[in-house]
Amino acid sequence: MADILSLKESVLVYLDRSGGLQKLTEDCKPFNDPQLSEAVYRFRFSVNPSDVIEVDPVLGDCVLHEPLRATVLFQSVCFLAIKTLSLIEKIHTESQVNVILNFTHLPPFPEYTLDLCRFPRVYGPMRPVSMEGLVIAMTRVTKYTQGARFLCVSDDCPCSKGFHHIRVHAPGATESATVRNHFCCMMCGSQLKEDVKFRVLGDKQLVELIHVKALDVLSGRQQSSLRYQSVTLFLR
Ligand SMILES: [Zn+2]
Repeated sequence: MADILSLKESVLVYLDRSGGLQKLTEDCKPFNDPQLSEAVYRFRFSVNPSDVIEVDPVLGDCVLHEPLRATVLFQSVCFLAIKTLSLIEKIHTESQVNVILNFTHLPPFPEYTLDLCRFPRVYGPMRPVSMEGLVIAMTRVTKYTQGARFLCVSDDCPCSKGFHHIRVHAPGATESATVRNHFCCMMCGSQLKEDVKFRVLGDKQLVELIHVKALDVLSGRQQSSLRYQSVTLFLR
């Protein structure tokens, strides 16, 4: 518990020093439009791992090796800041804060680089890596659900109002993992129904990436039986 508190303190120090708190204040302003009602509020922060390590090496390690856990720490600090500074009045729970950490760069070591020719065939640890390649195809920009609010169909249940059931898109999740129509209420087991006017949509685009060496095959210079497999990336 003390560990988590000290990590949250470090997140606050980092956000203060890096201008993240100032950005949070600015980003909250448009959400106070009374016309706007959303299930979740999305905030994007630039994270420089070297600066985080300087503030707190334990937090730096967490950001680089357990980014989902680090995101939860940032989410919690943002929610506290929003509540303490009254930045958004209509926010009710921490789950409504959707934080995205964008890395400004990664350490220049091989374990932080993903070579498309050595693509791992097993599931490795879920942590950030950089990759370089050639884009050979891309789709149009389409919408996906970033967050949605669900209400219990049973009128007697406390979950029939409020923000008890919030679903937020998680990295790697499909659309049906975020929204579908047979989720059950955790309080009473009745069916949940989405309150569609609270749905938050975001943009996504798919690109096909291939190793630059594939160009040699296309130009016919390389006479070998090598094949290059492209990978599909989801940009959100
Ligand atoms: Zn219920």
